[in-house]
Amino acid sequence: MAIARTRDRGQHAVQPTKTARESDAFEQTLRPKTIVEYVGQSEIKGHLLVYMEAAKKRSEPLGHTLLHGPPGLGKTTLAHIVAHEMGAQMRVTSGPAIEKPGDLASLLTNLQEGDVLFIDEIHRMRPVIEEVLYSAMEDYCLDLVIGKGPSARSMRLELKPFTLVGATTKAGSVSAPLRDRFIHNLKLSFYTPAEMEQIVLRSARILAVELEEGVADSLGACCRATPRIANRLIRAVRDFAQVDGERFISLARVRSTLEALGIDERGLDRTDRAILQAIIGKFGGGPVGLSTLAAATAEEEETLEDVYEPYLLQQGYLQRTSKGRVATQLAFSLLGMEMPEVAQKNLFAA
Ligand code: ADP
Repeated sequence: MAIARTRDRGQHAVQPTKTARESDAFEQTLRPKTIVEYVGQSEIKGHLLVYMEAAKKRSEPLGHTLLHGPPGLGKTTLAHIVAHEMGAQMRVTSGPAIEKPGDLASLLTNLQEGDVLFIDEIHRMRPVIEEVLYSAMEDYCLDLVIGKGPSARSMRLELKPFTLVGATTKAGSVSAPLRDRFIHNLKLSFYTPAEMEQIVLRSARILAVELEEGVADSLGACCRATPRIANRLIRAVRDFAQVDGERFISLARVRSTLEALGIDERGLDRTDRAILQAIIGKFGGGPVGLSTLAAATAEEEETLEDVYEPYLLQQGYLQRTSKGRVATQLAFSLLGMEMPEVAQKNLFAA
């Protein structure tokens, strides 16, 4: 069946992977419904407001939009907001959930005028299915081949004008023909500490959790600049407090919860540190290839690339080079180690 929820990509307690259950209940409660509620990403919001207003004035759907950025930054939320602001309905599916061209055809033919079709993980769509999208995106029509062999005939189906919103954690893996058919290409970035504080305050308010002065700030600083992690940490802190009969979240409670979860004050968890430890301890600081690193840390390559690396790169612990991953001076300091000369040379040569 084509309509599905996002695949569960891991078991990590606070990493920004998504489980079906969470996206159902908890995330739904906290998900901003309007662009005003959506914290940060001001450039993207500004552009989208212009594009949406222009589309409304022309009585057209918004142009097809590709959203990219690491998991948990708000791509799905933004797609819902686009549908809401355009007064449209949203249909949700994901690249791997569309098994046959017929699945996509049935989704497309069921769209009403102006609907938003959201395809998460669009880079994981099979090429044969992707091809169905080309004419749908360009001309709002479907070219179908009915039957097989000499009796096969082609048929053209008209579609109602719609907006495709694609989301991907890997913009580089979206094929050029598909990428070119998106009118708007928007890259979400990690949130600033002030925005993370605002997100923590907003979620705490919705969940009716009382925070001591300074808690939103320090919790926001440990969330890898990612709203989904902020929401998970608030929930974890609330649970720990509740079990101990506390109604009020103190700074001490935040510290003890983070410690229990193995998260340090920079927001790095055990896997982050294991990755850096492996690059430094087993491979002298790198360069080390992705598959070797995955084997050394017992993580999937995709999890390393999509979930862990973006933040480690952004924070300057890691560099990605053509020869592989290299640990930086900051990573050596984090682990309390001196960076050997050979590792410095490797980093500069990268
Ligand atoms: P993605 O699709 O990029 O993986 P989501 O859109 O599912 O991320 O976001 C995960 C959760 O984070 C949402 O349920 C929402 O509660 C929260 N969130 C995301 N972006 C924002 C934002 N800009 N402001 C407030 N909360 C946000």
